Amino acid sequence: MMRPRIGITCKLAIDAAWCPAVAGVRKGYVEAIVAAGGTPLLIPPLIDEATLRQIYELMDGILLSGGEDIDPARYGEAPHPKLGAVAPLRDAVELPLARWAVADGKPLLAICRGMQVLNVALGGSLYQDINSQYTTTIDHEAGSIQQCWENLDHPISLDPDSRLAELLGATELKVNSLHHQALKHIGHSLKVVGRAPDGIVEAVEVTGHPFGIGVQCHPEQLWQQADPRWRQAFAAFVKAADTRSYLQDLAVLH
Ligand code: MN
Repeated sequence: MMRPRIGITCKLAIDAAWCPAVAGVRKGYVEAIVAAGGTPLLIPPLIDEATLRQIYELMDGILLSGGEDIDPARYGEAPHPKLGAVAPLRDAVELPLARWAVADGKPLLAICRGMQVLNVALGGSLYQDINSQYTTTIDHEAGSIQQCWENLDHPISLDPDSRLAELLGATELKVNSLHHQALKHIGHSLKVVGRAPDGIVEAVEVTGHPFGIGVQCHPEQLWQQADPRWRQAFAAFVKAADTRSYLQDLAVLH
């Protein structure tokens, strides 16, 4: 049987000033899906919605990857002076993917920017810059400043009833932190299931969805060594996608 096809959203990156942009994603995402038994397929932010829909329908699960800030116009705000780089082409691809995956019950794992995309897709909003708009003593940009993905920068607490706590076998853990934005108003059908000690949202789940999880940290850089428990989260994501392809195969047979 074909291994579950996991679509991973990409960024556009400039290798050299004279080269056109490259569509790609940090290898930790790809390796996490391979290690979990999935088939990773990259979704470039370069396609019209009809093409995107075709790609979406071929996928058994969607992984929304990390990256730039979302255009605040997407949640009805003017840009704050501390807004970082935006990626309108990614917004145009990732917001529909998030909405479709929620509506269809297609397994969805949303990481960092991905969790913010999921929130905005469902009508939520963001703090455009934590340090300017939120009172905290925790440095949520610690990893970016230290230029390290593997450090366990701050603790988070998970809802004991959450799927994530079940998968990780813990309600208290430490995570890496490389974000300057955070969820503000929470989108519909999202439940906050994890927070940092300062109250910043670190994990959400889509209520009534077979597998819809968003995390603000970067588990794609933790599962290898820093915290191997995250392998269980990637494995459960791919397994959820597998059940779906199994059901689709059954539907074809009957
Ligand atoms: Mn954080």
